[in-house]
Amino acid sequence: TRTPVNVTVTGAAGQIGYALLFRIASGQLLGADVPVKLRLLEITPALKAAEGTAMELDDCAFPLLQGIDITDDPNVAFDGTNVGLLVGARPRTKGMERGDLLEANGGIFKPQGKAINDHAADDVKILVVGNPANTNALIAQAAAPDVPAERFTAMTRLDHNRALTQLAKKTGSTVADIQRLTIWGNHSATQYPDIFQASVAGKPAIEAIGNDEKWLAEDFIPTVAKRGAAIIEARGASSAASAANAAIDHVHTWVNGTAEGDWTSMGIPSDGSYGVPEGLISSFPVTTKDGKYEIVQGLEINEFSRARIDASVKELTEEREAVRGLGLI
Ligand code: NDP
Repeated sequence: TRTPVNVTVTGAAGQIGYALLFRIASGQLLGADVPVKLRLLEITPALKAAEGTAMELDDCAFPLLQGIDITDDPNVAFDGTNVGLLVGARPRTKGMERGDLLEANGGIFKPQGKAINDHAADDVKILVVGNPANTNALIAQAAAPDVPAERFTAMTRLDHNRALTQLAKKTGSTVADIQRLTIWGNHSATQYPDIFQASVAGKPAIEAIGNDEKWLAEDFIPTVAKRGAAIIEARGASSAASAANAAIDHVHTWVNGTAEGDWTSMGIPSDGSYGVPEGLISSFPVTTKDGKYEIVQGLEINEFSRARIDASVKELTEEREAVRGLGLI
């Protein structure tokens, strides 16, 4: 029998956590033959709610679930962790300045990064979901100098999935017909969903949309970028199941590989590719194989795309400056 994989989820009692944990325990994160042990990290007042979720996990009798630990101590939560899903974060509240938000999240992600550095398994892989995800990932990474930098990633897979469906609807196709779509930049309103490299049923996506750049600029891009707000408006609560689904997709693809001829989008430390300053955690087109990812090289970036990538990267640069100024990295 295989040794179980230790999966740590922070903010486990939150709504994304609730949508995520059952799918991890059922084998959808790593595979139907991979046993898992769950570590749930929560802030002290939320421990009781996490225990309630753990009771429900017990009641599912998942054959792959070999244990659940609940703690408010990151040093315990990340002990021996192979996969860490960092979901819990300090949400922006009304009237909160960006500096305050980054500082509050520094107080969460810096100690978690240190705990990962000191206690996680050698093969640890980290996905940051909690916003601002890219910069939170940067803070955690900076606090973990002994862990290879590329193990810290941020989630743009939900943006990627949202873009797939919008493009499928526009072209009367299905998401399975679409390949090589890219989200560039920050997981924020400045993100750039790029269809210029994409194909729909083997045909260039730009042709499939009738070369309608107006639709791209005024409909597609804002719809994808503002989808989170639209869901809050419609549902009265933020997206949770779709965010959890994207986290599952991100890790599953990282571990199990992208399909031949296709790629995915991940927020990863830049190596300077495509003019993105080195070290920024920015979204790129990546292929994955054997648990490793690589940026897709050699894509031609047109003017339309260049301006939008640059705008999102500028925002990431400013966030990095801000957390530097606060002494968080
Ligand atoms: P959610 O579970 O809904 O969201 C958690 C985080 O995911 C937020 O930062 C949220 O950002 C982010 N997120 C990223 N993508 C999406 C998306 N597409 N849709 C919605 N959210 C997205 O928050 P809850 O308030 O329900 O739960 C958070 C839990 O985290 C609480 O139980 C809290 O106690 C815990 N927590 C734990 C910490 C720890 O373990 N040390 C630290 C801080 C909190 P956004 O705010 O932008 O929506």
